[in-house]
Amino acid sequence: MKNSLPSAVFIAGVLGLDVLNSLARPVDELIDWWSNGNDFLSWMKQAGLLTDDDVAVAKANMSAKEIARAAANARELREWFRGFVKAHMGTSLKANALTQLGPLKRLLEMDEVFWSLEPAPAPSSKRASSDVPATGFHLRARRRWRKPESLLAPIAEGIAQFVSSADFRHVKACAGQNCVLFFLDRTRRHGRRWCSMAVCGNRAKQEAHLARLRKPKLR
Ligand SMILES: [Zn+2]
Repeated sequence: MKNSLPSAVFIAGVLGLDVLNSLARPVDELIDWWSNGNDFLSWMKQAGLLTDDDVAVAKANMSAKEIARAAANARELREWFRGFVKAHMGTSLKANALTQLGPLKRLLEMDEVFWSLEPAPAPSSKRASSDVPATGFHLRARRRWRKPESLLAPIAEGIAQFVSSADFRHVKACAGQNCVLFFLDRTRRHGRRWCSMAVCGNRAKQEAHLARLRKPKLR
């Protein structure tokens, strides 16, 4: 068993867009967190889309081959959605863009979500008392993971929630030279340029600094 992938990247500020960031270049090499069935399930867990129990149920109901096929279909969905985001980022999403969302709509129609009423998660001590739920219940969407396609359902849900709520004017690609990450700029002035200041922001600063040193001084 090898699991040498670094932690997955969640910097977009919204899950539907972090779907694209499952293909990223944390250092030099492009890494795909969806390149095989096991890595795909691990990404889903890191994204909070699957619990350990969900993974166990999925593995009991599907063969490794079927899970690998689901990962391949997910990669196809991701690259289709990357094209959609690239075509529309920077401007408001118009209603007629709906006609381009066929692959997403087909997945949503196949979803077999059911609802489960559960005890509310224990409130963390850091939360303000006004945030404590008024009841001890929590309504959770669940799935039975009977078919390989069902593994794509929570991803489709995330993408659908994103396209139905995000302001595409503020969807951006990181300005880092070799960076392939996308994010939703939620800063007040919408001036965010980098996936993260610690990575691409600093790299750009260092490059600008070196460029200044190389230039002959003007008087
Ligand atoms: Zn970046």
